[in-house]
Amino acid sequence: MSKTNSVPTEVPTAAKPTTPKDAGPSGGGHKPATLTAPSKNNVVALPGMCLGEGCKKRSEKANFCMEHFDWFKEGLVTKEGRKPTDFDKKFFDYTRRLAKKKTA
Ligand SMILES: [Zn+2]
Repeated sequence: MSKTNSVPTEVPTAAKPTTPKDAGPSGGGHKPATLTAPSKNNVVALPGMCLGEGCKKRSEKANFCMEHFDWFKEGLVTKEGRKPTDFDKKFFDYTRRLAKKKTA
């Protein structure tokens, strides 16, 4: 089974506040109901950026782009986007494994 990022299309249920009729200052004392906060409907969180060092891509998984998410899985980068102390060794192993995959 392949993992697909099927994001369910969420339809924001924006309850439109009924605009009170312009009654004017002396419009019979009909006060509009308590005003709701101005359009505070589902604010979509800004898409985060990849935490990878110097990476300008958008994060797709666990705050990493797919490339750096691989790094993260391989332990090449911590979840904070930092390199582990033995990064060089790990990166070396990682690139070797990648090279192997390509030739396989
Ligand atoms: Zn990245």
